[in-house]
Amino acid sequence: VVSLDRLNKWYGDHHVLRDVSLGLAHGERIVLCGPSGSGKSTLLRCVNGLERFQEGTLTVCGTTMDGKPASLTEIRRRTGMVFQHFNLFPHLSVLDNLTIGPVYARGEPEAAAIARARELLERVRLSDQAAKFPGQLSGGQRQRVAIARSLMLTPDVMLFDEPTSALDPEMIQEVLDVMEELARDGQSMIVVTHEMGFARRVADLVVFMDQGEIIEAAPPEDFFANPATDRARDFLGKIS
Ligand code: ATP
Ligand code: MG
Repeated sequence: VVSLDRLNKWYGDHHVLRDVSLGLAHGERIVLCGPSGSGKSTLLRCVNGLERFQEGTLTVCGTTMDGKPASLTEIRRRTGMVFQHFNLFPHLSVLDNLTIGPVYARGEPEAAAIARARELLERVRLSDQAAKFPGQLSGGQRQRVAIARSLMLTPDVMLFDEPTSALDPEMIQEVLDVMEELARDGQSMIVVTHEMGFARRVADLVVFMDQGEIIEAAPPEDFFANPATDRARDFLGKIS
């Protein structure tokens, strides 16, 4: 569903993605990790069209990014993104946060959107919170609403950028559980996270980046037991 071929990106003369090639098959889960500044967020933002890149090829569900509005719209439609800081609409109820995109941006009938929203809230275990406002929820609950809101747009690929790193420890697991369940249901995803337990349980492939480059890509069993490079070994030593 996602294919990157020798992507290169610069901010000014700062080379932030260097010949990044990566493929995500349907239903596959990739965990992306690496030190701060290695380009993980930039890579995700390129995949969903939030950032431009200067060289290389990006294809999402058969659409190749050519910089034109049509491909951008299509790629955005195919990808859902969940950030570290949930950006919910504070003045809308949980239910309205979920339905506003489909109803106003896509013209979905309101009743259908509400029905789907209720199903998704059940899936993220928040059925009883539909009428509340974001400010009345815990961080973990808000992040689960953000996940459900993203799923409302039926993305082929979910992109998670450190979805639990701003959460209190006791809320991390409830968010990871929801993501793990999505993975089990076959959702394709790329997850930037330092939660290595999650990576072990869920990832088909762990990709380690440093200084804009993919240094290693291996199944979690191999990556954790036997990192091939000193850089990955150093990194694992620091985070565990
Ligand atoms: P972290 O783990 O801290 O989130 P990251 O791996 O996500 O780091 P990126 O945010 O992708 O790293 O940043 C990669 C590099 O690009 C960094 O050197 C960063 O300073 C630089 N960078 C990111 N965004 C911009 C920007 N808008 N303008 C200029 N440089 C940027
Ligand atoms: Mg980042």
